[in-house]
Formats: sequence, C-alpha cells, structure tokens
Amino acid sequence: MTTTDREVREELQATEGTRWASGDPEDQAWERVRPREISDDQWRRFEDSVAEMFEAFGMDLDTPGTARTPERFLRALYDSTAGYDGDPKLLTAFPTECHVAENCLASQIVEGPISFFSLCEHHSLPFHGVAHVGYISDERIIGISKLTRIARMFSRRFTVQERLGEQIADAIAELIEPRGVAVYLEAAHLCTQMRGVREEHSKTVMTFWRGDYIDDTALRREFLAEAHRRSPWT
Ligand code: ZN
Repeated sequence: MTTTDREVREELQATEGTRWASGDPEDQAWERVRPREISDDQWRRFEDSVAEMFEAFGMDLDTPGTARTPERFLRALYDSTAGYDGDPKLLTAFPTECHVAENCLASQIVEGPISFFSLCEHHSLPFHGVAHVGYISDERIIGISKLTRIARMFSRRFTVQERLGEQIADAIAELIEPRGVAVYLEAAHLCTQMRGVREEHSKTVMTFWRGDYIDDTALRREFLAEAHRRSPWT
C-alpha cells in the first residue's frame, strides 16, 4: 500500500458516516475500502499447500527456477484479486466531480475499450477482454478514468462475466445517478480455451442496460456501434 493510499483510507475512516448521509450505507457496500488481511502464518501454510499440490501434479520444485514458484503463484493470485480491497480513489474523486445540471447535459458518453482481467470463480482460470461503458448524464458526471477504475475494481476478483457487467452498471448508476447506463463486455475464457471443450477462438459478449437504454433502441444501437467500432477483436 502506498502512503497516499493509506492517507486516503485514514481520511475515509474519519469521515465515514457523513459521506453517504443521503443514502443507506448498505447500498454503497461495494465501495467500501476493505484491505484483506492475511497473516504471515497463513502465507506460510498456503505456500506449503501449494508446493505439495504442484509437486503432486508433476512440478519439480527443486530447481533454481521453481524453488520460489509456490510463493510467486500466491502473490500473483493475490494481486490478480486486488479488487476485493476496493479503490480509495473511487470514493474521494466523486464529491469533487459532481457538477450542476447545465454543465452536465451531455449526450451519450462512451468510454472504451477498457481492458480487464478476471478469474472465473468456477475454475480460478483467467477470463479477459474489454469493457465499453456508456452513460447519459443527468446532474452529475464522473471523471473518465473513474469508469476504468470501476471496471478494474470489479474485474480483479473471482467472478463471472454476468456479475461483472451487472456490478459495473449498478456502480455507475449509484455513483452518478445518470439517465441510463450501458455496459458491453467481450471476453475470452481460458477455462473453455485451454481445457474442457477447448474452443480456442470463441469469445463471450454480454450487454447490460439501465435506465433510458432499456427502452430506447436507437440509443442502444448508437452505443453498440461505438463499442463494435472500437473493439480490438472485430
Ligand atoms: Zn471457468
């Protein structure tokens, strides 16, 4: 954790309870910054377990290249799931990026492609791809980089593509109360590419709609055209 992050967290703790006074704190539960705590003793036990498993599966841990592999594997897994820690910058950025209505009457805002890497909760194998996010602002706008932060925070977890899209859409809806939110996710799933059916070239596309996008087909078409135009895979 950097000093800046720590300072931000301390500040958040001091102001918690007032920041979201207008809403039920449970509604914003996804935004809580909650660093995971894993003791040294736990790390040691995890390393022993992983070493035992890797050796049983065939890895020779007695070489210069593999001696520290269990430890590296665990650190990599921990980093890949850092989204559970939350993102303090998402919280502090919001109040200063809220503007009055006249300044925010933009039409559709589309951001993407936002690359993401997740671990599927069924196999703990990666699925990765890009997200495109669109919204129609009402009285608030949000820094474009925050859309990326939202996508990153939810993707760096054990999850499924369906939940990831729902969480991104709901988070944007809660943060800026826009007229509508659209999320388009395209992803390749290693659990189907390197094992199981071994479908190397398939990708899974999902769309998620909130507000105006639910009924406005023209708006959806406009968003999807933007997403397709920017897709690195089409
Ligand atoms: Zn899977």
